Amino acid sequence: MSVLFPSAPPGDGAAETVCSAKGCRTPAAYALLWNNPKLHTPDRRKTWLACEEHREQLSSFLGIRGFLKDVLPVEDLPHRT
Ligand SMILES: [Zn+2]
Repeated sequence: MSVLFPSAPPGDGAAETVCSAKGCRTPAAYALLWNNPKLHTPDRRKTWLACEEHREQLSSFLGIRGFLKDVLPVEDLPHRT
């Protein structure tokens, strides 16, 4: 279940694998795993989903801040509840 950006409208179906970029409805191809050390314990991972188009944008946003830990194909994302 995606928790980061509540941008997907309810009732849209298949929302859990949609890109996290604001306003984007493209199915995600990548999962960006990140951690903000000021907010999260070191082993915590937040997840953003990104389509091909937004992977660069979202990963550089996180990378600049030093938050980005990992980028995985979305199929490799462990299921989280
Ligand atoms: Zn996107």
